Amino acid sequence: MTSTSPVAVITGAAQGIGRRTAQVLAQRGYSLIVNDVRSPTETERELLGAKVTVVLGDVSAEGTAERLAATALEHFGRIDVLVNNAGISNITPAEDISRAQFERVLAVNLLGPFLLCRTLGRVMLTQGSGSIVNVASVAGLLGIADRAAYNASKHGLIGLTRTLAAEWGGRGVRVNAVCPGWVKTEMDEQDMGAGAYTDADIVNRVPMGRFASPNDIAQAIAYLADPQASGFVNGHALSVDGGWANDGSWDA
Ligand code: NAD
Repeated sequence: MTSTSPVAVITGAAQGIGRRTAQVLAQRGYSLIVNDVRSPTETERELLGAKVTVVLGDVSAEGTAERLAATALEHFGRIDVLVNNAGISNITPAEDISRAQFERVLAVNLLGPFLLCRTLGRVMLTQGSGSIVNVASVAGLLGIADRAAYNASKHGLIGLTRTLAAEWGGRGVRVNAVCPGWVKTEMDEQDMGAGAYTDADIVNRVPMGRFASPNDIAQAIAYLADPQASGFVNGHALSVDGGWANDGSWDA
């Protein structure tokens, strides 16, 4: 069966930015396949909506990308949008981070998105159309202290985005990134719990004087996903950070 509505696959969608993106794309008429490494709770499942198909799996594990592609094709016959949102944080001084920690962050934040881009990108190239949105970070544009693995993974993800945009843009597949500043999610609560920063630090540092909401980021993802809205935008890394990364006066 081929779906008449556009079809999107979103990783890391049980909570935070991924879940809000699922809700925004559903409101815009997309059919959804969502992924997470853990089972959504009953409440989270309700927030995602009854019609959403959930495929569990670690994005960096062998076979997850293939299962997502197969499920999307079986249910809907096509894949229009991939949102590589799943990610993990790590705040450790560079001299203290272990090889295992560094490798894990790179696996989830960079290798996983690459595997998803490659497998679902093949489907899009066969269709001759598609839009991939990689959720990077301002940490992919700046060198924020104590985040060696995270920053390296997000810089790498922006590099991957630009490379795929160059390779696939002429074949109907656009690849872009969003670069959120600080967003109020569980990830952020974890980082604050580890003493990395306080609410006041962020409010004082961001020109617009607040955190991003998951909805701020989801709306930017929806824009980049939509060929009507952003059909000639390709290889772009869009900051959604209240002006923080462009301010020039930041300190970490
Ligand atoms: P979050 O921790 O609230 O949610 C991340 C989700 O991804 C969780 O549901 C988690 O279970 C899932 N996940 C983790 N590892 C996974 C894996 N290996 N495979 C599949 N799913 C996995 O985080 P968030 O704040 O919503 O972040 C979403 C994305 O936005 C991440 O890529 C993050 O790096 C990026 N980002 C977040 C912020 C922020 O301030 N929160 C800022 C910039 C960028």
